Amino acid sequence: MLYTPYVWLPLASAVLLASIAVYAGYYRRLPACRPFRMLMWLSSLFSLIFALSLVVAPLELRVLLLRLIYIPGGFIAPAILTMVIQYTGHAAWITRQRLAALLIIPAVTVVLTLTPPLYPLFRHSPRLIAEGPLSNVVFSRGPWYWVYYGYGSVLTICALAILAVSLVTRAQRRREMLLLILGILIPFLADILTTLRITPLPGYAWTPMLLACTGVIYGWALLHGQIFIIVPIARGAVMDHIEDLVIVLDTQGQIADVNSAAKVTCGMPAQAIGEPVEALPPDWADLLRGHSRTSAGTSEVTVGVGARQRTYDLVVSTINDRRGRPVGHLFILHDVTAHKRAEEALRQSERRYRLLAENMQDVIWSIDTQSLRLTYISPSIEQLQGYKPEELLGQVVYHGLPPDMQAAIHGLIQQRIATFLADPTQHTFVNELEQPHKDGSAVWVEIVTHYYISPETGQLAINGVGRNISERRRADEALRAANQSLQAQLAEIQQLQAQLREQATHDVLTGLFNRRYMEEILEQGLAHAAREQAPLSVMMMDIDHFKQLNDTYGHRAGDLMLQATGALLHGHTRQMDTACRYGGEEFVVIMATATLDMALERADDLRQAFADMCVEYGGHELRCTISAGVASFPAHGGDGDTLLRAADRALYMAKATGRNRVCAADTALESASKLLTRD
Ligand code: GH3
Ligand code: MG
Ligand code: MG
Repeated sequence: MLYTPYVWLPLASAVLLASIAVYAGYYRRLPACRPFRMLMWLSSLFSLIFALSLVVAPLELRVLLLRLIYIPGGFIAPAILTMVIQYTGHAAWITRQRLAALLIIPAVTVVLTLTPPLYPLFRHSPRLIAEGPLSNVVFSRGPWYWVYYGYGSVLTICALAILAVSLVTRAQRRREMLLLILGILIPFLADILTTLRITPLPGYAWTPMLLACTGVIYGWALLHGQIFIIVPIARGAVMDHIEDLVIVLDTQGQIADVNSAAKVTCGMPAQAIGEPVEALPPDWADLLRGHSRTSAGTSEVTVGVGARQRTYDLVVSTINDRRGRPVGHLFILHDVTAHKRAEEALRQSERRYRLLAENMQDVIWSIDTQSLRLTYISPSIEQLQGYKPEELLGQVVYHGLPPDMQAAIHGLIQQRIATFLADPTQHTFVNELEQPHKDGSAVWVEIVTHYYISPETGQLAINGVGRNISERRRADEALRAANQSLQAQLAEIQQLQAQLREQATHDVLTGLFNRRYMEEILEQGLAHAAREQAPLSVMMMDIDHFKQLNDTYGHRAGDLMLQATGALLHGHTRQMDTACRYGGEEFVVIMATATLDMALERADDLRQAFADMCVEYGGHELRCTISAGVASFPAHGGDGDTLLRAADRALYMAKATGRNRVCAADTALESASKLLTRD
């Protein structure tokens, strides 16, 4: 055994590397941890063997140890590459086959170093170089050595290249990436120098000891918190594709991580990682600083002013390492601005409709279709019926009405529900109801009810609008009354008109036709008689000594006698005959279809009846007689005038021959009169 102080360096490295390997065991589940631990164990073993080789005295034993050293040594470069691939999130690249391929050259190297005849291909001619307290064994290199060395260098350069690419594409890991590159670059450069024998101590293997640097850097990263050592697969992609803002601050208030959305929104510089939170725009800096004091929770925050103001739901969580020590805060900000604006718009719209409902004269209400109880009623109900809405809410819709009305309305609503469900086009109903007012009076209300299926619940719903129509009803009533009075006036006018018509054709005192109307009838009757070649007779009569009656009993008595004469004529004429007052106390009766004889007979009947008639007046019994003359068509004339003149002459004859008698017109006389008239 030899002692040399140079042994302490590899020995300490071996212990340190082994400690890191053990410590990293806590983080076994993290990606890249397995190859990292493997690297630590391999380096530790390498250092240990090298340390042994420094202190054993026999050269053969030393040479043997320095052959064995390539068992761990050959696998260091593949371990570095595997670790870097996993660390940068490309674990999928490493398949079993690829790993096997990666280990071919180290495996061959191990075989060569353990197979004495082949060993010279790798290294040969060991010689001892003593320098002060250190004696090193130096070998000549065989061809495989360069294969082995070149291969290890290529793998290490690949690992460095992968880290360099990640350094560019994953800017948020810049600090860690740089440290890792350094952690690999230092032993790599040392290895190159050692291999080229540009070293103060030829044969002294620095490389594994410098790998302790790598271990320390990685170990620090582990200690510092797992978030700095893990780069899960697609983590960057996920972070950068979520729309929520994700910001991580470490306990010192430095930006430890941030996603693209947060960078853009908060206006962060490209290299924000590692910057203090104060580097952010003031509103963001204040917000994050303020909330990193509170441990965790959810809140709503606003950032910015005016049109640029945004509202976020902020979730703050404390990040602890595996041992529960806080290492930072995670901020997740979910933009709810649009949601808030929609909510505000909805609130405004709701307020607008509420104002509309509350300020409308009409009453709006809705009822529960099962119980028919009011679920809403607008405040204008107080104006309409005197009740406050809260007095009516929950009451049945026909509250306050007499029981029979209640039953009727209940039935009506059920019937309408059935109607609507059978035919949804029948959804609106209008009726007018007299509703009780709280003060005991009644108010007329027009109720428009609307039945529909609520789009929210899918259930039947009933809404209604009530309008005070008392005024309108009063106006309607007044209109109806005015109309009725107009109708009455119209009837009166019609009656008057009828009266006028009557007066135009009738004599007022006797009710008989007047002379003018009689002449019309006579003309028609004669035309008809001429057409039908039928007879027609006229009788003209005059009350005897009527003047005397008037003079004796007064004009009134005369009038009574005239009225009695009218009534008698009325009673003694046939349907087809026309009796009329010809003037004064003279009367004419036109007897259609009556021959002269028939007319004479009836005229005499009339004369008799008249003589028998007695009119009571002023305690007197008034009696009169008549004289009459009868003329017939066509014997006594072909036209009305001629015929009446003939009858008048016959009347004159009756008067002249003693009165109270009937005379026929004389045919011969008529012929003579005609001749005389002609002459
Ligand atoms: P005679 O037998 O010749 O017919 O005699 P008389 O008095 O009836 O005849 P006269 O022609 O002289 O008188 C007719 C009277 O009838 C004259 C008139 O005062 C009366 N007289 C006419 N119209 C009315 C009437 O409407 N009412 C009344 N009370 N008298 C009337
Ligand atoms: Mg007369
Ligand atoms: Mg007379």
